Amino acid sequence: MRILITGGAGFIGSHLADRLLGEGHSVIAIDNLATGHPRNIEHLAGNESFRFIKHDVTDYLYVEGELDVVLHLASLPSPVDYLKKPIPTLKVGALGTHKALGLARAKGALFMLASTSEVYGDPLVHPQAEDYWGNVNPVGPRGVYDESKRFAEAITMAYHRYHGLDTRIFRIFNTYGPRMRVDDGRVVTNFIAQALRGQPLTVYDDGSRTRSFCYVSDLVDGILRLLGSSENEPVNLGNPNEMTILEFAQTVQRLTGGGSELVHVVPTDERTKDDPQVRRPDISRASERLGWSPQVPLEDGLGQTIDYFRALLSHDRAR
Ligand code: UDP
Repeated sequence: MRILITGGAGFIGSHLADRLLGEGHSVIAIDNLATGHPRNIEHLAGNESFRFIKHDVTDYLYVEGELDVVLHLASLPSPVDYLKKPIPTLKVGALGTHKALGLARAKGALFMLASTSEVYGDPLVHPQAEDYWGNVNPVGPRGVYDESKRFAEAITMAYHRYHGLDTRIFRIFNTYGPRMRVDDGRVVTNFIAQALRGQPLTVYDDGSRTRSFCYVSDLVDGILRLLGSSENEPVNLGNPNEMTILEFAQTVQRLTGGGSELVHVVPTDERTKDDPQVRRPDISRASERLGWSPQVPLEDGLGQTIDYFRALLSHDRAR
């Protein structure tokens, strides 16, 4: 198949590109490098089945030739990024999704939307199943991301119902692994980078909020199973292994050698406003309809991720 990935130089997009190329498909990656990085795809230079186009998906989008699948991942998914760039966040979720849908329709391609657990907001139902409509504050700082993805889901379903476009929607829960951006401000990268630099791990507030972390290879596996299915309804993809942020900090502390302290920090900006208190996917739908469940234990995935950041940081120090 010939597959276009928006956000193809990003963390998840580049892992998807590797996996699809490995299965013999050809891949076109589109990215404006706002949060993606050329380093994530540099090993693909010279691969004849791979092409990179630097382009902002919120602008008119066209590629020559046939396309079988449009995988729309372009996004600013880190809370710190969307607080700094609220309007590009809204634009890529809304205008970017419209452009990507238009391209899929013009090519008669399958359209796959990367959505998010943030559509559930600060959830009042736990764990979150796909039929929960969520608890989102549209005018809060996270609203720019959450509402852009809710719009993206709505317009995807409109193209499906009105234009008969074949579509898939997957809701990604916290995912981690090599190629995350070291300065993306998320808990996984913050804690690992702090531990490797011998700095204290910054646990916001009392660390009692919960998340569950999915390793990137498990996520990619779920996305490809969804691609091969005929499931038009949204599907949660995440790891149901829930823990508090304090427990997560202690795990990173242990796996990096235990030398770093934990400090409780009360952020003075808006980064913890409307921060979901709990989050855990109900993955019954993915399990029943796709035969999918995550396989990689947290300690194994974190080990791989820590090795990646150790190499990256020592390379940066050497330069
Ligand atoms: N968090 C933290 N310390 C950090 C970064 C994040 O305690 O240095 C907390 C944050 O407040 C949230 C959780 O970790 O409750 C996950 O944050 P992240 O930014 O990774 O993404 P989110 O799951 O909120 O989208």
